[in-house]
Amino acid sequence: MPADSIAVPGLPAEPVDRRRTVGDAAALLARAAAPDRRHLLHGMFWLLVAAGLEALGPLIGKTFIDSYLLPRNAQWPQMAGLLAGALVAGMAASWLRYLQLTRLAGVAMRSVQRIRESVYGHVLRLPMSFFDRAITGQLVSRVTNDTEAVKTLYVQVLFVMLDSVIVLSGAMVAMLWLDWHLMLIVATLVPAVALIVLLYQRLSAPAVTRSRELRSELNAQMAESIAGMAVLQASNAAERFSAKFAAVNEAHYQSRQRELRANAWLLRPVLDLLNVILLAVVIAVFGARDQGAALTTLEVGVLYAFINYIARVVEPLIQITMQFSQLQQAMVGAARVHALLKEAEAPKAAEQGRVTEGGISIDHLDFAYQPGQPVLHDLNLHIEPGSFHGIVGHTGSGKSTLLSLLLRFYPAPPGSIRVDGTPVDAIAEDHFRDRVGLVPQDPFLLAASARENIDMGRGLGDERIEAAAKAAHAHDFILALEQGYATSLGEGGARLSVGQKQLLAIARALAGDPRILFLDEATSHIDSETEQIVQRALTELRGRVTIVAIAHRLSTIRDADRIVVLNHGRIAELGTHAELMAMPQGLYQRLYLLQQLEEEGAG
Ligand code: ATP
Ligand code: MG
Repeated sequence: MPADSIAVPGLPAEPVDRRRTVGDAAALLARAAAPDRRHLLHGMFWLLVAAGLEALGPLIGKTFIDSYLLPRNAQWPQMAGLLAGALVAGMAASWLRYLQLTRLAGVAMRSVQRIRESVYGHVLRLPMSFFDRAITGQLVSRVTNDTEAVKTLYVQVLFVMLDSVIVLSGAMVAMLWLDWHLMLIVATLVPAVALIVLLYQRLSAPAVTRSRELRSELNAQMAESIAGMAVLQASNAAERFSAKFAAVNEAHYQSRQRELRANAWLLRPVLDLLNVILLAVVIAVFGARDQGAALTTLEVGVLYAFINYIARVVEPLIQITMQFSQLQQAMVGAARVHALLKEAEAPKAAEQGRVTEGGISIDHLDFAYQPGQPVLHDLNLHIEPGSFHGIVGHTGSGKSTLLSLLLRFYPAPPGSIRVDGTPVDAIAEDHFRDRVGLVPQDPFLLAASARENIDMGRGLGDERIEAAAKAAHAHDFILALEQGYATSLGEGGARLSVGQKQLLAIARALAGDPRILFLDEATSHIDSETEQIVQRALTELRGRVTIVAIAHRLSTIRDADRIVVLNHGRIAELGTHAELMAMPQGLYQRLYLLQQLEEEGAG
């Protein structure tokens, strides 16, 4: 069964555009190596000199045989001189090889380091819309495996190829000088190998690209399974996931197998065969030319040198052909990294706007994630500095979307959102993030200590961290952990309950001392008693911090200055709790009464 016919769900096979791939890989290499250009040139120069010195060997041998050995013409000083020359050339070549190797390998590793950092840094600055379609494992695979492929491009491909071409050229020139007829025969090898390489490319290129995609798909599935382990086990899906994994794994195997078959056929065996044929032809020609006559002494040395040089032509050709498989992989890897780097980063405002008071005004705000599917319609809202606004509405009514726009995770239409009179996208990014806090719907915790999770690398100091934890009512349960603030929370904060995670997320947002604080469902998972404490914390912030809180639990925002009721992306009602409750047949009133009934029922 050909590998292509194995269906991998959710994975479209990208077509290979070879010319673009080569261009992308070259662009990436040039960019990564730019700072090391001098080292690179040094390395290449030493490579050239070393290969030249190595090419001298057989010539010296030939002179030794033809001038001294066969004519039985022992001239000790000259012979000693030749020997010493060969020795010095050999030693110098070895030393230069060492220099070249360390230099070039160093450049290669630095480049990978540089590319990896720039890819990671780039991913951190991509707009949130990118992550709506990104798959974690595939991204990870690009930052780790694919950048490594770029190193291969350097060390194994670029240098081995360059080395081979230089050694080959040296041997050709030496042969040309010795006997150009014979050299022409040897030279027929080059187009023959070119043909083989071409054929090899045809056969293996699609398989190599596919292997890489499948490997990254394996990573992706692993990452996804770990992230959703509880759901996976609870829905008894382990077997189905195993089967899916096995299908992808099998496709990967088939793909590698196809690569391997092409390698096994075309690389060593075919080229070795060519080598043997060539040797036979050269010796035959040699013999035929001197039919009957005894070989002249001069020609024995030439034959010796030729046999030597043929090996020096064939070996590099084999090397070059073999590198093509690596080249293939590296190119695909490099092209994938390049494609990721080409993703546009979130625009960074060059402007120097500031958040001062924390007032927000929203004018005629329309928004759609996908064109033609509007989520918010003509929203108008004025939020006074230091006020407390609650946002309520049915699931999918656009509450989180509104928050995302206020937070600049997605670009809002120009001028539709202003903070203290300045359009949000004209406020300096770092300053904006400092002054605006968020408690998200899914509290995200790092696999780090409680302290680090509140600090988030801001260097706030223990005092501020503990004050924030106290304000968020997280202090007590943190102290109850075995190592207090130093306790490691496990990946995603696995050691805490969801309510505790929410409190920690609130502490994190408060620790930054924000002017504006957004809360998305910050109280959905905590008990009523804790909720009251959070409510008190929010009330304490009133007047100092502008608060916009989304809440399903309406008691959280009962005391808000104003409550915004969203319905299908429009503001349906707006007012204080009392005003909204007084509206006959109001949406808010209905929601509130329904919740009370539920609570009584539960009670
Ligand atoms: P909930 O109370 O369930 O959190 P919400 O009011 O916060 O709901 P939003 O998350 O704002 O709802 O979603 C509003 C609409 O936008 C929904 O129809 C949703 O399908 C859509 N939507 C949300 N996020 C995206 C996204 N990243 N890409 C495309 N559509 C989205
Ligand atoms: Mg939401």
